[in-house]
Amino acid sequence: MLHRISHVLLRGLQKIRVTLFFKVPLINHTLKPLFFKTPLVAKGNPQSKLPLFPYFSTSSPRYLLQSMTNTDTNDVEATVRQIMELIDAGADLVRVTVPGVKEVEAIHKIKKNLVEKNKNIPLVADVHFLPEVAEKTAYFVEKVRINPGNFTDKRDYSVSFTENEYQQGFEAMMLCAKSLIDICKKNNTIIRIGVNQGSLCGRIISRYGNTAEALVESALEWIKIAEKYDFHKIVFSIKSSHVKTMMEANLLLYQKMVEMGRVYPFHLGVTEAANEMEGRVKSAIGIGALMLKGLGNTFRVSLTEDPVHEIVFSKLLVTAIQEVNKNKYDSFSNSVLHIHYPEINKEKWWAGVGALVGKWWLTENIKDIKIENQHFAIDEIEKLQNCVLQICHIKKTHTEIIACPSCGRTQYDIQALLKVVKQRFANYPHLKIAVMGCVVNGPGEMADADFGIIGSANEKVAVYKGKERVSDFVSVSEALEILQSIINHSLSLPSVLTDGNDKR
Ligand code: SF4
Repeated sequence: MLHRISHVLLRGLQKIRVTLFFKVPLINHTLKPLFFKTPLVAKGNPQSKLPLFPYFSTSSPRYLLQSMTNTDTNDVEATVRQIMELIDAGADLVRVTVPGVKEVEAIHKIKKNLVEKNKNIPLVADVHFLPEVAEKTAYFVEKVRINPGNFTDKRDYSVSFTENEYQQGFEAMMLCAKSLIDICKKNNTIIRIGVNQGSLCGRIISRYGNTAEALVESALEWIKIAEKYDFHKIVFSIKSSHVKTMMEANLLLYQKMVEMGRVYPFHLGVTEAANEMEGRVKSAIGIGALMLKGLGNTFRVSLTEDPVHEIVFSKLLVTAIQEVNKNKYDSFSNSVLHIHYPEINKEKWWAGVGALVGKWWLTENIKDIKIENQHFAIDEIEKLQNCVLQICHIKKTHTEIIACPSCGRTQYDIQALLKVVKQRFANYPHLKIAVMGCVVNGPGEMADADFGIIGSANEKVAVYKGKERVSDFVSVSEALEILQSIINHSLSLPSVLTDGNDKR
């Protein structure tokens, strides 16, 4: 308790410091474009029947496509270059990680540099743990993403909260949010409330468990906060690496908003989707199914690849959704889902199939999935079938590998490591292995994996067995050997391994 009180006091002091800091503005406010052509409502979106807040235009309904840079934010030149590539690929907005105060200056330079190049793409500052960093960026970026799980609350899951303490935690967050909201109001800045199952705070989990309800409650608290201060430029995302939880939580939040009589925009995404076919199909199942239900204003397909690939696939997903929405390519009988989407483009086919699978998975008990497409060889079709069966936990044929897309916090070649892990550890169908970019968010977000490798410092990684850190600051090649040996050791023990399903 004392600890929490001192935390609130500390935040108060930090706020004073931030206020002083901005007496001499660091930021050139004219950098910000005059308008933010954002959250447009998709055609047929149930949200369009409800009051939307004034800055949302329905004149040109479409989804905004977004991605996130994975360069070091302090490397202004490289980050600007990557943003330009994303603009060329068709991104509507780009997120950049801002891990600390040092990076506030860097993202300001990035913004300035882009404006000088006449590239007024909206930037989203991605902030965890440091409300003062969110406040500083809110002066000049178009959107600030905060994570309610680490805005002021702590992760400590061992603490139980009395009713009073629970309320105090909420009030501390509300107090702290006020200065951010004040800055956002004055500067026309949107706040994305980015709830993530891997980083829910101990307070919410103590009451709701690590469930879809907990994710929704975390988001609802921020509706209360924003509305208390008469602030409505908020966008919500609820993400999880568990695709079904992510879908259910988004739909539940939407339902709660409908009951409240006002619906805020949704940003859709699946976390730790990894790469290649699995990454794309996982995202297509989660995001696509919600899009087919009419939900979502913007989305990000997270891939552990070049961020440009995320935009390329996002475009394919949008067109696939339009097609599978218009035509009947699916049927469900005797617990078997049949999909015949005769698309020639392989990734677009994955996207359409994924979305249809997600749509049925939400409501039916699927026992098998049969896919047909005359344009692809049988082994390609089987590969996709196995992929969707595995994601839906119907039939496991290979190890479930999850991986974060990486960002400016990553200090090693995660894309290369992921490829090696996928090859070398492919044949453990009842295991879940995580490859994560950083120790800041990695351990929380891989909490239910059996094993994991997480970036810990420059070119060094840590190896985890469940939540236990087995070794740290080792090279990638050492980590692979350690991982192999702890898997071998675990396999020699009776029933220590789990089935890779949600154990949270
Ligand atoms: S876990 Fe990955 S995506 Fe998340 S903050 Fe760390 S490096 Fe970035």
